[in-house]
Amino acid sequence: MKTIGLIGGMSWESTVPYYQIINTRVKEKLGGLHSAKCVLYSVDFQEIEACQASGQWEKSGRILAGAAQALQAAGADFLVICTNTMHKVARQVEEAVSIPLVHIARVTAEALKARQVRRVALLGTRYTMEQDFYKAILVEEGIQVMIPEEDDRAEINRVIFEELCLGEILPQSKAKFLSVVEALARQGAEGVILGCTEIGLLIQQEDTPVPLFDTTRLHALAAADLALADAGI
Ligand code: GLU
Repeated sequence: MKTIGLIGGMSWESTVPYYQIINTRVKEKLGGLHSAKCVLYSVDFQEIEACQASGQWEKSGRILAGAAQALQAAGADFLVICTNTMHKVARQVEEAVSIPLVHIARVTAEALKARQVRRVALLGTRYTMEQDFYKAILVEEGIQVMIPEEDDRAEINRVIFEELCLGEILPQSKAKFLSVVEALARQGAEGVILGCTEIGLLIQQEDTPVPLFDTTRLHALAAADLALADAGI
């Protein structure tokens, strides 16, 4: 089994499910008392969010690159950045180490293609929804990407930073997210990407008939499967 290097804490509320999903997958596949070999470097999210808000992406990239080097030195065979937004600096992280990175948008694109979804809506932070670093990877794979209207983007972004990253799961926010999901489906989205690792804490597949692609789950499962790939499972 390979050792997974997790760069987490963005926010720690969504790093918890990563750990659970990875270990559950390894247990299901190997049985007995098996669990995942992993190393977690959990950052102080306040520092990262301050970089995001002030546009200091290079500085945040240096913080994550340092985390990646520490994980490599600790024996990680590959890296997982446990957030969609911070994949904006994925290249800076990759360039700092010699181990590979499992990119969350590439994993998501694979899942969409496997389900033959060609037109998808993307929910996430305003950086993920409005900038190109994430959508471009989906578009390269021939997937058309829709995003919510401006007011809805502002509210989704607010809920992520003011509620979900603080562990607050509120029924009115759940209702709002579901209404946005359903509106996007009516406008032609064949599925919706939960493109922020905390959104799965708020809405789940059983809440809506619209196919949801929970990036936390997809990314964590991809990491577990890669860790087990050389174990002949
Ligand atoms: N975890 C979130 C994401 O997946 C948002 C926090 C962040 O800005 O990194 O994008």
